[in-house]
Amino acid sequence: MRLSKTDQPIIEIQDVSKYFESNQKKLQALDQIDLSVEAGEFLSLIGPSGCGKSTLIRIMGDLLKPSSGIVRINGKIAKQARLDRDYGIVFQTPTLFDWWKVARNVELPLKVMGYPKAEWMDLVRDKLKLVGLQDFENVYPWQLSSGMQHRVAIARALVTQPCILFMDEPFGALDEITREQLNLELLNIQYETNVSVIFVTHSVPEAVFLSTRVVVLSDRPGTIKNIIPVDLPHPRTDKTRESPPFFDLVTEIRAVLKA
Ligand code: ADP
Ligand code: MG
Repeated sequence: MRLSKTDQPIIEIQDVSKYFESNQKKLQALDQIDLSVEAGEFLSLIGPSGCGKSTLIRIMGDLLKPSSGIVRINGKIAKQARLDRDYGIVFQTPTLFDWWKVARNVELPLKVMGYPKAEWMDLVRDKLKLVGLQDFENVYPWQLSSGMQHRVAIARALVTQPCILFMDEPFGALDEITREQLNLELLNIQYETNVSVIFVTHSVPEAVFLSTRVVVLSDRPGTIKNIIPVDLPHPRTDKTRESPPFFDLVTEIRAVLKA
């Protein structure tokens, strides 16, 4: 795992606003977002549909430019951080190539980034082991369950050993049992790699279970309504979900969302 520079926030967003223009209409998606994330955090973004969560994650990932404001990722401008592969991104659908075996899907970022071929197999095997798929490198994605396909997507996002993982509603389409299992695995992955995670979700309990802090966004244009620290003990387990402080936090965040 590459280390981040520890003396500064791993992500700094200052006064970021975003406007889209379509059919001569100007639509404001984000309004003056200020956010600072420390290395090793698990930060969730939650808010009404269309409030700009994906836009914010895309701006951090240099897939979109902000209309105004500053974004620094690992101390660099977002574009440089992208070129340096300081982060991996996981979207709601795993977007795997069905006609490529699992190992080939996972090694794709290494190929794109021009890593020496001799290193590919070790890195791929290491990450497949991390997500519990060490025995599946030679099968095709369509032979896997949807939960396993998501784990392949996580392995692929981590194969270049980034210090940040952006996840945009990664488990939103999964059934509850699979989702809770992946939540536990994701925390374990973070524990083992120390990767910082920015996680978009619609689920308040999921946000509370996973996070060190939960950022609640307002209706569009998205502004930060509140940032709630989650001081539940680690490691989080199935028991965490049954504890009174867990329910208190879920209730508190629901209230902020509705306010
Ligand atoms: P969320 O992820 O919170 O559901 P998005 O970030 O996807 O919301 O979108 C925020 C708002 O910006 C929405 O109103 C959406 O329609 C609009 N939007 C997003 N991307 C574009 C785009 N490329 N062009 C025009 N409007 C967009
Ligand atoms: Mg979205």
